[in-house]
Amino acid sequence: MAYDDINLRVPGPTPVPEQVALAGARPMVNHRGPEFAATVGEVLERLRPFFGIASEPLLLTGSGTGAQEAAVVNMLSPGDEVLSVTAGVFGERFAAIAEAFGAAVTRIQGEWGKAISSEALAEAVRSNPGVKAVILTHNETSTGVTNDVAALVAAIRREVVGSQPVVLVDGVSSIGAIPFEMDQWDVDVAISGSQKAWMSPPGMAMVGVSERGWAAHAQARMPRFYWDFTKARKNGEKRTMPFTPAVGVVHAMQEALRLMTEEGPENVYARHAAIGERVRNGIQSLGLELFAEPSSVSNTVTAVRTPEGVETSSLIKGLRQRRVVVANGQDWLKGSIFRIGHMGWVHERDIDGLIGALEATLHESRLEAAV
Ligand SMILES: *Cc1c(COP(=O)(O)O)cnc(C)c1O
Repeated sequence: MAYDDINLRVPGPTPVPEQVALAGARPMVNHRGPEFAATVGEVLERLRPFFGIASEPLLLTGSGTGAQEAAVVNMLSPGDEVLSVTAGVFGERFAAIAEAFGAAVTRIQGEWGKAISSEALAEAVRSNPGVKAVILTHNETSTGVTNDVAALVAAIRREVVGSQPVVLVDGVSSIGAIPFEMDQWDVDVAISGSQKAWMSPPGMAMVGVSERGWAAHAQARMPRFYWDFTKARKNGEKRTMPFTPAVGVVHAMQEALRLMTEEGPENVYARHAAIGERVRNGIQSLGLELFAEPSSVSNTVTAVRTPEGVETSSLIKGLRQRRVVVANGQDWLKGSIFRIGHMGWVHERDIDGLIGALEATLHESRLEAAV
């Protein structure tokens, strides 16, 4: 079977270029030795422009959910008041993690499929003056919505009179594909995962932390061990990672970041914007409807309403027979939408192939329904 015979269009894990896969298959090295130190240094350096930070991010071994947990336990103490803005599965998960570790979480529930409004957030910040942290999702992968993090953080900073809360942002399915300016937007913790926009296999999480974030970390008393940011920072300074990292994934990521750097962040973002538009145009040309409101559609994942008379699971099966793999809806959206991932290693031909396969599958299911 050809290397890229499957058009993998789920919102993570995403396809990896052949040279990235080969880099991941390189022989093991000592994770405390000079070769790995060079790799870690290069990865840290190349990540910075995509996070929009002057300082170096932290490298952790784990998935995006691990990074969500890491953000919570390193920034908060049990009993801390937290505002969690949720309008989908991943915002809910972040809130649930904060609750699991004893934070007093107030949810600001947005409508699924819509962006979070700055006014609603400002109002919530006003009525919760003691809040220690605000949790945001940049790109809600379950609904295909991108939130305006810059505007949301600005609204928080404007409303707070006393000491500023730390703002934790889930950028797992956005950073590396959609512009992100952690320093400029005044974000305190930003997280991402290797298997989403980074053209790499799953297994590695990246976390940016601001000065305010480090100050909060020094006070934070939630239990932590594996995810300790102090440990991660000290390791980073020595060009290592805590414990035994997923060495193969770090090798793959090094190669992927070389490709991303060569393409350049601006071109990477422009490619995702063009691809996002191509997906949406293709979907609409087939008479299908997007789940997200037009003003906040995501350029990394598109959620599509399953048309009347078609079953989502059979649509997904039909696509799979045509070697295109998409994802069902999650939670209460399961069965009523399907989701197309288009982040990382994605080009026009992948989208055209997907739209063609979708057209054929829909045609077939309508013929069957007519029998
Ligand atoms: C995928 C994803 C996560 C969870 O990441 P895992 O690697 O599956 O643990 C969290 N947030 C967002 C926005 C995601 O897309």
